[in-house]
Amino acid sequence: MAVIVGLTGGIGSGKTTVANAFAKLGVQYVDADLVARKVVEPGSACLAAIFEHFGESIRTPTGELDRAALRKIIFQEDKEREWLEQLTHPAIREQLKRELAACSGQYCLLVHPLLFEKGHEALCQWTIAISVTPEQQIERVMQRDQNNQQQVKNILATQLSDIERCAKADFIIKNTGTADELNDKVLSLHNMLQLQLV
Ligand code: ATP
Repeated sequence: MAVIVGLTGGIGSGKTTVANAFAKLGVQYVDADLVARKVVEPGSACLAAIFEHFGESIRTPTGELDRAALRKIIFQEDKEREWLEQLTHPAIREQLKRELAACSGQYCLLVHPLLFEKGHEALCQWTIAISVTPEQQIERVMQRDQNNQQQVKNILATQLSDIERCAKADFIIKNTGTADELNDKVLSLHNMLQLQLV
């Protein structure tokens, strides 16, 4: 089984960009955001339990999960958020493990915005944090998604600070420079990881 390396960073830090750069070097990765969506896909046991608990108000006309409606409920009610998490967290963890076990290569990546916040670093042998300034996060996300500054700041407030995340990680990729500089850093780290795993 491939060694699992967690790749994390705050909103807009460059996780997708870095994961794609590793992929170009032949490194496989599992995207935790996609796995979190997969466990509540139509037909899943989790989605059935969620509909039973919250009722029709969070079901779209096509039978999918109305994420915005659910977010509104759990934002207002801590008890409901806890209920949802105790249902979905074990399912997400199991699915992450399954997909990581299916990866081949010397090592693979677990790309996860909340790797440390959710305790999923326990699935990884090593961890990488992408480091950027909050100003860069805000600027890059606003440019990418046409979000307003306050929306990005609200999400930043729910995540570890850059310094806390970097303190927990084994390796740090500083993404404060250009895209070319980022690619060079990914290549150096990839070479170093490969050497460690020989
Ligand atoms: P999210 O947490 O929202 O999923 P992310 O961590 O995956 O975001 P990316 O989508 O990879 O971040 O990057 C955010 C934006 O910043 C993208 O538009 C990306 O192209 C851009 N970006 C990433 N790195 C750089 C860089 N070094 N210079 C300029 N733009 C960059």
